[in-house]
Amino acid sequence: MTTSSVPAGDQDLAAFIAGLPKAELHVHHVGSASPRIVAELAARHPDSKVPADPEVLADYFTFRDFAHFIEVYLSVVDLIRTPEDVRLLTYEVARDMARQNIRYAELTITPYSSVRRGIPAEAFLEAIEDARKAAEAELGTVLRWCFDIPGEAGLESAAVTCDIAVDQAPEGLVSFGLGGPEIGVPRPQFKPYFDRARAAGLHSVPHAGETTGPQTIWDALTELGAERIGHGTSAVQDPRLLAHLAEHRIPLEVCPTSNIATRAVATLDEHPVKEMVAAGVLVTVNSDDPPMFGTDLNTEYAVTARLLGLDAAGVAALAKNAVTASFLDEAGKSRLAAEIDAYTAARS
Ligand SMILES: [Zn+2]
Repeated sequence: MTTSSVPAGDQDLAAFIAGLPKAELHVHHVGSASPRIVAELAARHPDSKVPADPEVLADYFTFRDFAHFIEVYLSVVDLIRTPEDVRLLTYEVARDMARQNIRYAELTITPYSSVRRGIPAEAFLEAIEDARKAAEAELGTVLRWCFDIPGEAGLESAAVTCDIAVDQAPEGLVSFGLGGPEIGVPRPQFKPYFDRARAAGLHSVPHAGETTGPQTIWDALTELGAERIGHGTSAVQDPRLLAHLAEHRIPLEVCPTSNIATRAVATLDEHPVKEMVAAGVLVTVNSDDPPMFGTDLNTEYAVTARLLGLDAAGVAALAKNAVTASFLDEAGKSRLAAEIDAYTAARS
């Protein structure tokens, strides 16, 4: 699946976006496996049903519907069997990021899936940390981790994820999240795990309000202590909530193309990002599961620029929102913001 959301007249802006130093705050580990990476993993495991030929894979990645997306996603999960697979995936995801000038990313990782599949937590953590250090040294892309609870796997997965995050916290871990379906998976049940993770110094970044209404976002704020909201698409249905998010500077991690792919929003033109910005909410742009949704972060910036009517300066301001909303320390934020300013100044 390819996306060509950039109208021909916007090629200059697309080039500006491509070179712009960026931070990404909402992007999933396995969901970032591009056909190139999947081909490498499939070649390591010839018994898998996933094709190892990148050309055949392009077709394999063309989703018929959401159920098919889940099927493909799980077949990629099935390719990650050893610590070396984990390392390869993580490093190669960073390589794809570096090619887009993503200088800093908080990558959402679900250790539970790998631990359940038999990779010991220690070996898993060693593999991602090894990839993180190599990516920073060799590619210049700084990675940090958000460990998330796969909501559909219930409280057992919450307990396992929390134990790993608190008792075995790797150096790169900054936050604790919650993904998976929202319908039938109420946020408040995860409160004890978020309490424990927060007490251990981790930031709270649950997904909320992607496929359910604003009450889920309120629950994420009041029960889980959310400091940023993954998606938060339905916030626009509740003016009081929008005002709360704006007043308390709680950023939204907006992923436009993902919202269309999952049908959380019917069409891009109906995406509520404009209302979010108009309400004064700090909006960040993200790609979620980029190759699986036929997108990348640069495309998401182009899409958002179109929806908000932004020029290069507006796009640079959007990129700085992600720096502000990140869990980088103040020195790291200043450095990346200065890089964005220098790039923008050199091109205006
Ligand atoms: Zn997500």
